[in-house]
Amino acid sequence: MIRLLYISRAAPTISNEQVQDILLSSRQNNPASSITGILVHGGGLFMQVLEGQEQDVLRKYVKILDDPRHSGAEILYISPANNRIFGKWSMGGIKSDPLQFQYISKLRARRLEVIDASTFTETMREFAQMLRDAK
Ligand code: FAD
Repeated sequence: MIRLLYISRAAPTISNEQVQDILLSSRQNNPASSITGILVHGGGLFMQVLEGQEQDVLRKYVKILDDPRHSGAEILYISPANNRIFGKWSMGGIKSDPLQFQYISKLRARRLEVIDASTFTETMREFAQMLRDAK
């Protein structure tokens, strides 16, 4: 299993409805390839974590790259994983708010640095907790 995190620029004209469409199709499609993860949208950016079998995650990522609703995707983190952080979500969604945007900005600022595994896992667990709290 692997975990992949990328960040991309949302299309300037993207609406909340379109982001909801993306979440909807992700939730419909991802179970077929046992992909779980989270999609965060805020500040003109997307950040997505995809977890699953290596081939499934890479295939999905390549497909997502072609989507005109975003551009300039950059992988910030990719690593083997023993377990899922977002196991309960075929694609969890987090909308932008000032608190959550801080997380995206922080990760974006660090995109040229190596994000060490424990920092990454800790940040992702915080995201998972946010999803639980948002219920
Ligand atoms: P089709 O409806 O046949 O799509 C055909 C093409 O049109 C695709 O290339 C798609 O990119 C594009 N497209 C579809 N709808 C729109 C639209 N409303 N506006 C503009 N272009 C459109 N899909 C997943 O399955 N799982 C994910 O986790 C996932 N995450 C995503 C994250 C981001 C940031 C983005 C932008 C998209 C994501 N998608 C995800 C959507 C993915 O790119 C495909 O649109 C989706 O998988 C449906 O593909 P399809 O070929 O079955 O659908």
